[in-house]
Amino acid sequence: MSPSCVPEHAREGSEALFINGEFVDSESDESIDVQNPANRETIATVPDGLGEDTNRAVASAVNAYEQVWSQTTARERAELLHKVGDRIEEQFESLAELETLENGKPIDQSRSDVTETIKTYRYYGGAADKLHGDTIPEKNGLFDYTVREPYGVVGSIIPWNWPPMHTADFTAPPLAAGNTVIIKPAPEAPLSSLKIAEIWQDTLPDGVVNVVTGGAEPGASLVEHPDVKKIGFTGHTDTGTKILRSAATDITDVMLELGGKNPSIVLPDANIEDAVAGTMDGLLTNTGQACAGCERLLLHESVRDEFIQEFVERVDALSIGPGIDPDMDLGPLANAEQYDKVQNYIDIGKSEGAEVIYEGTVPDGLGDGYYMPPIVFGDVTSDMRICTEEVFGPVLSVTTFDSVERAVELANNTDYGLSAAVWTDQMQVANRLAKRIEAGIVCINNYNNGTFLGAPFGGYNKSGNGNKLSFKETMNEFTRVKTIRTAIAGEEQGDIDSHFES
Ligand code: NAD
Repeated sequence: MSPSCVPEHAREGSEALFINGEFVDSESDESIDVQNPANRETIATVPDGLGEDTNRAVASAVNAYEQVWSQTTARERAELLHKVGDRIEEQFESLAELETLENGKPIDQSRSDVTETIKTYRYYGGAADKLHGDTIPEKNGLFDYTVREPYGVVGSIIPWNWPPMHTADFTAPPLAAGNTVIIKPAPEAPLSSLKIAEIWQDTLPDGVVNVVTGGAEPGASLVEHPDVKKIGFTGHTDTGTKILRSAATDITDVMLELGGKNPSIVLPDANIEDAVAGTMDGLLTNTGQACAGCERLLLHESVRDEFIQEFVERVDALSIGPGIDPDMDLGPLANAEQYDKVQNYIDIGKSEGAEVIYEGTVPDGLGDGYYMPPIVFGDVTSDMRICTEEVFGPVLSVTTFDSVERAVELANNTDYGLSAAVWTDQMQVANRLAKRIEAGIVCINNYNNGTFLGAPFGGYNKSGNGNKLSFKETMNEFTRVKTIRTAIAGEEQGDIDSHFES
């Protein structure tokens, strides 16, 4: 039997698409069982949607845009988004429990995710009526001003690692900006989006947000659909590349939030206790399945032994078990594919000859869950795959350096460029280093994984383009700019009273 936090339609396995304000059946005969990764039990079933489902959802979003949403004022949209935030708050504990059940993460982390989800609706509720264009200095009696206009219909495609937060990140800003939305959650974790859809059903006009569940097909058809004018995507870099290629056909605008291989750089004067705690958080939040997570540790050789000793002691003391148990620090990986992928990288690291500094064990009695204890590889060199490819698990690669120049070189030795952390007491060094690191986010003396709301969050290079979570960049992301040119004075700028002479 499904737990009571599971959304009703997914519990019953029918009418689990949300289109035009109603939960409806898919055109597909195929379905996806959503597993609790802590024990592999099926907790819900959703349709493995088809392109036809996407088409219905797009038609609903186009109609809702034309008939309703484009006629709302920014303040009306703001009020509705605040209502969504309030309603999520009423279901706080149930949504946190659901996230842990569909994703595996420790319940405290799910609680902070739901807190961020609520804040996101409120933040963009507040942003809706503060978006404005520019005025451009008059020339030759002509005056230009700009307005920011919604795209119309936005398609949002999200991964499984932060299901409620990603749902909010890719619905609240486009809605605030005046768009209607179709969201395609990950097949492994679609339940948080469906639960929030129950709230949209009560709070938003029909068709303003729609949910299509399933895998690549409904996602790809969203990108291909000519009525979808903007795609917001979070996921793997390879999928982002496919999406960008497909979007080229209609020159559809695409925002990509992709993978990372993020370094934590510890300089000789760093506060080791803080650096250990921050790097651990970077490595182990969401059991290592975080885009901004830390997979590379760059240690100055003078602090290597002290750092490693403290790090290993602290990691070894962590508890591993079902995320729903509040005493657990580390839950299982999120799904079977993740488990196989991470295990494969561990095998690769060993076969590449990296030193195993630490390898944890799974406690007895945890049954069938996808548990993966942390592992720390030392003496990792730049040619090893565990140093260059995103693992997306609790696998840390350690490399030492003997100069700050070398640290910069190592940090930038990646195709990615999402985030980095620098640990030192010298702020001038830290800020100089921050400028030279090729990444969208650089943290100095902290490693922050999940609470960026208000600051632009986005990657350089193969970590993507565009920024989520901020006011200016994100609201601009979900709007287009139009220039309006007005002849304000006429060509003859004579006596002003001449305008009234007949
Ligand atoms: P993924 O790319 O496999 O899937 C993401 C979404 O894309 C899913 O909904 C999936 O069904 C859909 N999809 C798959 N193929 C598609 C296609 N051809 N066309 C359209 N949609 C398609 O990623 P994942 O495994 O779910 O997530 C893990 C990845 O996400 C990691 O690389 C991680 O770094 C990245 N990520 C990035 C950020 C960020 O903000 N930069 C945040 C979280 C996760």
